Amino acid sequence: MDRIATKVTQKNAQVGPQAEAKKPFRWRPLAHSLLDLTSNRKRTRDFLGTRANFIQERIRVLAMVFAAVVLLWTALDYLIIDSTKTVIQLAILRVICALGYVILARYGSKPHNLARARLKLALLVTLPCLFYIASRFVLEDTGALGAVMLYAFFPFVVVVQLAIFPLPLLEGLALITPAFFTLLLVESHFANLFSLSFLGDLSLLVLLTCLALWASMSELQMLLRLYRQATRDPLTGLFNRGALMETMQLEVGRAQKQEYPLCVLLFDLDKFKRINDDYGHLTGDAVLKIFAKLLRQTLRRSDHTGRYGGEEFMAVLPHTDTADAERLAEKIRKTCAATSVAYRDEGQIHFTTSAGIARLRQDETAEALLLRVDESLYQAKEAGRDRVILAA
Ligand code: GH3
Ligand code: MG
Ligand code: MG
Repeated sequence: MDRIATKVTQKNAQVGPQAEAKKPFRWRPLAHSLLDLTSNRKRTRDFLGTRANFIQERIRVLAMVFAAVVLLWTALDYLIIDSTKTVIQLAILRVICALGYVILARYGSKPHNLARARLKLALLVTLPCLFYIASRFVLEDTGALGAVMLYAFFPFVVVVQLAIFPLPLLEGLALITPAFFTLLLVESHFANLFSLSFLGDLSLLVLLTCLALWASMSELQMLLRLYRQATRDPLTGLFNRGALMETMQLEVGRAQKQEYPLCVLLFDLDKFKRINDDYGHLTGDAVLKIFAKLLRQTLRRSDHTGRYGGEEFMAVLPHTDTADAERLAEKIRKTCAATSVAYRDEGQIHFTTSAGIARLRQDETAEALLLRVDESLYQAKEAGRDRVILAA
């Protein structure tokens, strides 16, 4: 028998701001959270999808702003540069660059697609670098020092713009490479390498890079925190209903498009009200946490598990056929029935669950699937509880 000893007392339940305030400062969590922000390794697919959407939305706005600025800058060229030919050449480059920005802003976005978000970010940093290199060559013979100085801050803009994106360290480092490469290429061509002014520019670029990466990582950390708060059920740590429904819609769409099997499990703890009435709500909460842990331990990382309502839980299982879904639901039901929770020193609490299973049909909507699985759970309750019923 799988016995989980859980003592529920008022003392254990002490949480809140006072308990937080007494916590001593520790280096280990800080180092851990910094390490956690170096790459995407530990991120869930759902968070990466949300981050990809966030990045693509920001690129949409930023690229349109840059397109406008790049075009409006022609007026400044006209005022500073004497040669009309150079102004026209630069204007042509500006139109090409602005077009690139408009294409980046308006086309090719793919919801929840991290590869696409990364590609767009790479283009966002490469485009101004290419424009800068081309314009410096156009400006080479004009001797318009004022214009050259105005253009010289392009690599810095490329680095600074990254500060508005939530990026892990390694991704940020990869994205600033074009800016450094551009600075080196342009300065070496104009024989300024190792000059004092170049060293000054390089130091400034390094400083801005550090600040931009710091800002990007802080933003990533903030996004992670907000994402967790917005999508997790605070009691069990599983998806909340909103996140679960959104994920289900997405997964149903994918399964229909790519034609792979998908099953949904809906669990409802049996006679749960009695546990609350007999042992108190804290004990009820402990039972809910134990059941959530059981779901996490039994299901795969690629499955999506959430708290659908009070004592109702749902799991969306992509790439799973009916036989596997039934086997998993039965395993969860049996483990649940074999689990006991210690209540103070007075004895053990046992609890059971009923479950409904439904396999996604061709052309079926998420709502219709939900109705069917709900119906099969209702049948499991009607048939006497502590059982799994497969939807017709
Ligand atoms: P059935 O077998 O028909 O599902 O009976 P039941 O008692 O489980 O169902 P019912 O809907 O009557 O009661 C559900 C109970 O779940 C009532 C509510 O107090 C309790 N509940 C809902 N959310 C929470 C929670 O977050 N914590 C605790 N402790 N109880 C909760
Ligand atoms: Mg219920
Ligand atoms: Mg119930």
